[in-house]
Amino acid sequence: MPHGAPLELTGVTVTYGPYDAVRDLDLRANAGEVLCVLGPSGCGKSTLLRAVAGLEPSRTGTIRLDDRQLDGLRPDQRDVGLMFQDHALFPHRTVADNVAFGPRMRGLDRRSVADRVDDALRLVDLTDLAGRRITELSGGEQQRVALARAVAPRPKLLMLDEPLGSLDRALQARLLDDLTRVFSELGTTVLHVTHDQQEALAVADRVAVMRAGRVEQLGSPDELWRGPRTAFVARFLGLEHVVRLTVRDGVADSPWGPLAVPGTRDGDHDVVLLPEALRVIDAGEPRRDDELAVTGRIVGRRFAGDHLRVTVDPGTGPTLTVPVWRGSVPEPGSDLELALDPQAARILEPETTTRSTR
Ligand code: ADP
Repeated sequence: MPHGAPLELTGVTVTYGPYDAVRDLDLRANAGEVLCVLGPSGCGKSTLLRAVAGLEPSRTGTIRLDDRQLDGLRPDQRDVGLMFQDHALFPHRTVADNVAFGPRMRGLDRRSVADRVDDALRLVDLTDLAGRRITELSGGEQQRVALARAVAPRPKLLMLDEPLGSLDRALQARLLDDLTRVFSELGTTVLHVTHDQQEALAVADRVAVMRAGRVEQLGSPDELWRGPRTAFVARFLGLEHVVRLTVRDGVADSPWGPLAVPGTRDGDHDVVLLPEALRVIDAGEPRRDDELAVTGRIVGRRFAGDHLRVTVDPGTGPTLTVPVWRGSVPEPGSDLELALDPQAARILEPETTTRSTR
């Protein structure tokens, strides 16, 4: 299998009528990197992939793959593979026939086509089903055929549009494992689009969080999780505690008491509490001097598999939700004591304006 090539988008704008679905976007994926584009529905993720694939023209900017400019080239000249959201398989043809489509379109001889089909089916563990028709497969198997079809031509860039979108949770988890294995075996550059933050954080080397046609933040899963730049990114990653606080003389006047947030500037700021900012403490358990003690009434408990999410109302300010791992969880209506660590609070940048039409 070939190694991936770097992909570079510079100042790319894609327009539908008066509306910019992708706006002046800069993005670079390094050779062999898995780059996830993460964002809410309608933010322009699919449009971005379609522009790179050559299915949508860009109005401004350049798209380069391995120092080759793609703008103006037909989709089949671009050396990219695209796995569509709806699979777009030929339903009455066999698995092998579907996977052979790309290599055949490239004009390869029968022998080379057969080799590539074998390789791709082995990669997704579907060799035994090569002769089946698509209509005789489960949803998860169809998804794997779609993946095999996208990789069979051995593209320098593999792009996936919500590849797990239509599957149930258990299958999603299995296919997520398959995808990470396939990505690392292939070594190709991957542009993977999803609205699901867990999926993005699980597969990506780096994640580009997209909002209204632009990249709002780009970083490794760990960088994003530890340092979301804006309230939008923080909320989109699933960080629940974003509050607006006034900082004076380096101390934020929070509803739960004075918080010495690191790196702070005086003024009004959005502040996010990272998950490790809050922990449950037993009555009388010591806490650090700079931690705040917050006592609140339990107003909600939500089962989350290996832990419970317990929501506490401290009486002033917003409620706080913490994971509780221990066997005995206090009943709703009783009090819970928390320690709030200001070191795990982050000042966020002001929100930028969104949406534009020309
Ligand atoms: P995402 O993949 O993030 O859900 P899309 O790229 O599909 O977003 O769409 C971005 C925006 O462009 C949306 O507001 C959508 O309604 C609009 N859009 C997408 N395709 C078309 C089209 N063919 N014609 C007009 N508007 C479109």
